[in-house]
Amino acid sequence: MKSYDAIVIGGGPAGMAAALYLVRAGVKTLLVEKLSPGGQMLMTEELENYPGFPRGIKGYELGDRMAEHLQGYEVDRIFDEVREIKVGEGEHSILIGDEWINTRSIIFATGVTFRKLYVPNEEKLLGRGVSYCALCDGNFFRDKVVAVVGGGNSALEESLYLSRLVRKIYLVHRREEFRGLKCYQDKCYADPKIEPVLNSVVSRILGDDDVNGIEVQNVKTGEYSEIELDGVFIFVGFDPVSKFLPPEIELDDWGFIKTDCEMATNIPGIYAAGDIRSKNCRQVVTAVGDGATAATAAFAYLEHKNG
Ligand code: NAP
Repeated sequence: MKSYDAIVIGGGPAGMAAALYLVRAGVKTLLVEKLSPGGQMLMTEELENYPGFPRGIKGYELGDRMAEHLQGYEVDRIFDEVREIKVGEGEHSILIGDEWINTRSIIFATGVTFRKLYVPNEEKLLGRGVSYCALCDGNFFRDKVVAVVGGGNSALEESLYLSRLVRKIYLVHRREEFRGLKCYQDKCYADPKIEPVLNSVVSRILGDDDVNGIEVQNVKTGEYSEIELDGVFIFVGFDPVSKFLPPEIELDDWGFIKTDCEMATNIPGIYAAGDIRSKNCRQVVTAVGDGATAATAAFAYLEHKNG
C-alpha cells in the first residue's frame, strides 16, 4: 500500500499553499484534487484584493501561477475523488478512487460548494438558463435579460461583471438591504442596467426547455409576480465540501471544520485550511495563509513523532 507523510485534499489556494510548504520542508506529500487546480479562483473573474497585484489579476491566472509554482517541486498528484477516510492511531487511510493510501497527516482543503435555492426547475434547467458562475456562462447571455439572486458580495460583484455583457439585470434579494460591501452596493445602485428587486424571493424558475422567466414572491406583501428573462444566476452563499469527512472530526453548527489557530482539528495530525474551516473571512489570501500555517504545524507534528 502506498504511504505518505502528508496528504493534502483539495487543490485550491489553501491546498496548493499547504503542498508547497510541505514539499519545501522535505515532507513526502500527495496532493489530491478532484478536477483541475485552482478551486473557486477559477470562477472568479478578477481578484482585486490579492496583495501584490495592484491592477488585479484574473482568478484563473492566479490559480495557474500557483500550480506552476508547485510544478517545480516533487509533489505527487492524483486527480480523483476521496471516497472514504479511516482515522487511525498515528496513521490514517484514505480511499481515493479504488485505492487505499496511508498517511501520517492530512490537510483538508476542499473548500465550499455553491448553495442552491431548491425551487422548482432549478435543477432541471441547470445549464439551460440556470447558472452558478457568471464567469463561465455570462457570455451566453450577451444582450439578454437575466436575474441575479442574492445580496452578498458575490451577487453584487457578479452583477457588476454581468452588466458588461447583458442588456438588463434584475437583482433579486430577500431583504430590504444588501449584505455585500457598500462599495459594491453603490456601484450596483448606480448601474442603469441593474434593477434591484428587494424583499423578494424566487419561488419558481419558469420554462420548459430553457429558462424564460422567474416567479418571485414579495415577502412583505406575500404577492407573486412573474418576470420574463433568459437566465438566472444564483449566488446565495455556499456549503462546505465535507461529505467524505470521518465522523471523528469536530464540525461547527454549519458543517465547517473546527480548528485551533494552528489549523489543527480535534484529531492529532489532521488539519484544515481555507474555506472548509470554521472562520469569518473566506478569501484567497486567507486560504493561502491557512495552507501555510497548516503545513508548518503538520511538519512540526511529523518531526515530533519522528523524535
Ligand atoms: P453570503 O455573503 O453568505 O451572502 C449570501 C446572500 O444570499 C445573502 O445576501 C443572503 O441573504 C442570500 N441568501 C442566502 N440563502 C438564500 C435563499 N435561500 N434565498 C434567497 N437568498 C438567500 O455569500 P457570498 O456572497 O457567496 O459570499 C460568501 C463569502 O465570500 C462572504 O464572506 C463574502 O464576503 C466573500 N466574498 C468576498 C468577495 C470580495 O471581497 N471581493 C467577493 C465574493 C465573496 P441575507 O443577506 O438575507 O442573509
